[in-house]
Amino acid sequence: MAAVSAADGTPPGVPRVLFVGGLGRSGSTLLELILAQSPDVCAVGEVVHLWERALGADERCGCGERFTACPFWQRVGERAFGGWSAVDREEVLALKDRVDRTRHVPRLARGSLPPRQLADVRRYAELYTRIYRAAAEASGARVVVDSSKHASLAFALRWAEGLDLRVVHLVRDSRAVAYSWGKQVRRPEVVDGEDWMPTFSPFTVSKLWTAQNAAFHLLATRAAVMRLRYEDFTADPAGTLRRVRGFGGLPDDPEALRILTDPPASPVRAHSIAGNPLRFSGGPLRVRRDEAWRAALPRRSRAVVSLATLPFRLRYGYLGQRGSQPVEES
Ligand SMILES: [Zn+2]
Repeated sequence: MAAVSAADGTPPGVPRVLFVGGLGRSGSTLLELILAQSPDVCAVGEVVHLWERALGADERCGCGERFTACPFWQRVGERAFGGWSAVDREEVLALKDRVDRTRHVPRLARGSLPPRQLADVRRYAELYTRIYRAAAEASGARVVVDSSKHASLAFALRWAEGLDLRVVHLVRDSRAVAYSWGKQVRRPEVVDGEDWMPTFSPFTVSKLWTAQNAAFHLLATRAAVMRLRYEDFTADPAGTLRRVRGFGGLPDDPEALRILTDPPASPVRAHSIAGNPLRFSGGPLRVRRDEAWRAALPRRSRAVVSLATLPFRLRYGYLGQRGSQPVEES
């Protein structure tokens, strides 16, 4: 295996980030967890939620510890900011509101920005760059995986100075995504009391799905973006893992694919912020396509989603009953 960077005390270079983008419930946590099984990858979960859920609510890290008790995140905070107490959370949240919102995507897609907006986006992107650099140094990994998913954050990060940003645009059949967002799912990372993941109506999911995917197509004209369909990922996990690692500049390493062997090995938990409850499962990882929506999504909901998301369903090859024809990469 190739030597990991930043393990020999050399000055920290430019962090390389694989940003997993797309609408939630598209398999990003599974992809992240599989990538994280190799020591050259450090998967940090959804950094976009760090400010509220980790720093604010002290929710549990993917390792099972509370954020403030997780040694990895303490090291990251020290390296990035001289400790998390040095971060003004309110200031970051106000900055996030000014920069990282879907409505700001058209502005962030431009070639230049007025000085004040440029200063905001640079400052916001710098916070993430520091976290990525610190995570790479603390773990010794060559690539940091952030599965924040939101297109607006990916657009903000393209303004970062000194960041090697590579975006995996993950797409999944809109009908499967709509079915998943309609289910009640408890959030195991909440320590005090009980909380549930939000649910959305089929029509709302259709709008979000179209907006997010459209944004990543726009981003692909301005940044390194690799498109990946959930259905192709689950049909060929090993081939997908090789492709994604290759896109991240990582070597074709048989060891990195060991998690996919049969019988499956138990995964190492990642120090991940937020994400699907799968990250706490601890059991063997089996990659298989979840097709429950075909029987369980009500006919009316299916009709709404099918019609409202038609243009991109055509583009991705999600047509008809079978719904997953091969599609050309664009
Ligand atoms: Zn942890």
